Amino acid sequence: MRFSFECSGEIMGSLEAPTSTENGGSNPSPGGSRNHTAGDGPLPAAANSTPAQPPENDATRKRKASMLPLEVGTRVMCRWRDAKFHPVKVIERRKMPTPASNDYEYYVHYTEFNRRLDEWVKLEQLDLDSVETVVDEKVEDKVTSLKMTRHQKRKIDETHVEGHEELDAASLREHEEFTKVKNIATVELGRYEIETWYFSPFPPEYNDSLKLYFCEFCLTFMKRKEQLQRHMRKCDLKHPPGDEIYRSGTLSMFEVDGKKNKVYGQNLCYLAKLFLDHKTLYYDVDLFLFYVLCECDDRGCHMVGYFSKEKHSEESYNLACILTLPPYQRKGYGKFLIAFSYELSKKEGKVGTPERPLSDLGLLSYRGYWTRVLLDILKKHKGNISIKELSDMTAIKAEDILSTLQGLELIQYRKGQHVICADPKVLDRHLKAAGRGGLEVDVCKLIWTPYKEQS
Ligand SMILES: [Zn+2]
Repeated sequence: MRFSFECSGEIMGSLEAPTSTENGGSNPSPGGSRNHTAGDGPLPAAANSTPAQPPENDATRKRKASMLPLEVGTRVMCRWRDAKFHPVKVIERRKMPTPASNDYEYYVHYTEFNRRLDEWVKLEQLDLDSVETVVDEKVEDKVTSLKMTRHQKRKIDETHVEGHEELDAASLREHEEFTKVKNIATVELGRYEIETWYFSPFPPEYNDSLKLYFCEFCLTFMKRKEQLQRHMRKCDLKHPPGDEIYRSGTLSMFEVDGKKNKVYGQNLCYLAKLFLDHKTLYYDVDLFLFYVLCECDDRGCHMVGYFSKEKHSEESYNLACILTLPPYQRKGYGKFLIAFSYELSKKEGKVGTPERPLSDLGLLSYRGYWTRVLLDILKKHKGNISIKELSDMTAIKAEDILSTLQGLELIQYRKGQHVICADPKVLDRHLKAAGRGGLEVDVCKLIWTPYKEQS
């Protein structure tokens, strides 16, 4: 089965602060209709706390009725949970469940917000006065898929040389998933019920379930609670399959070989995709190692998050996908996972870098890590030090060191070469701004030998 996700960085997402905009980068409507109140007709009724529809004449009513049901691809303003109107794009529509009703509800993407806030809305939430004249979906789709194809083509060219039919099928599928409606709304995992954020390509027979029940140890998923209860009585796993390579206090890290534990690897990807946006690519899980971080107690080892890593990476990627599960976010686990990936690289005697592209949050986390590690060394170091030496000490790729130090304006160009200029006071200021490092990796508790292909 070709299946996995290349996705870096969605580590410490925050539900209450939608910041990133639409990924496909399609332009918002011409004429700046974002500013909804810009003198083009009455204010939307619902902007007031007491909804009072402006009087409508027959012609208006007819015009509006003729728009319905709205087409997929329509751009319109929609009342969000902040009671304000925001631009959305209709991704999908469905008939209301009540048999008598002819009304539709609409699955919308708020173009100003992260895709995790996509949701089903009722017609009343949409301001039909703001419906934009027909968007040429086909043209737009082409643009989006071209953008993806470039990235994907590169990836696939590197790993699969079979030809291009596959690429086309894959990019079609990718586009489909990119625009897809969130299918599973919640998952039960151990003692948590977790609201999901994004679409994940579960097998079709699971698509009619709003909730899935996961065995928290082997990650088998089921549609019904009773199935899970039956499963738990016979499942004898109490931790991820694979080797425990790190234990410190109640924290353990397990290394799972995707080839030896294919089903586990696939299940982990299905689960992870529910919380990771963009960049859905298909890979063999065989090619990856999964590093699963757990909090352990007398009931077993409970997954907190994980990162995946290609067994062989010519680009010296030391991390492909990284995720901290929502109940465990903002506790320093994401930083721990990043630090851990570099400790593995040090043991391998290689430099490493996360797979690109990084999400904005991912880049922020990495910048913080690189800044802390590099500036700690610069503070203690006496005399000259080169980028190469820094790279040897930290396993951070030279390019990442250079861009980090340049970003902090610590690099100067003198007599034909780059020189690191580090005033202790400036270093302290940057270190403070980079924040704390989260949970520390206690290197002496890492018992691990780098992966070698068994012949
Ligand atoms: Zn199980």
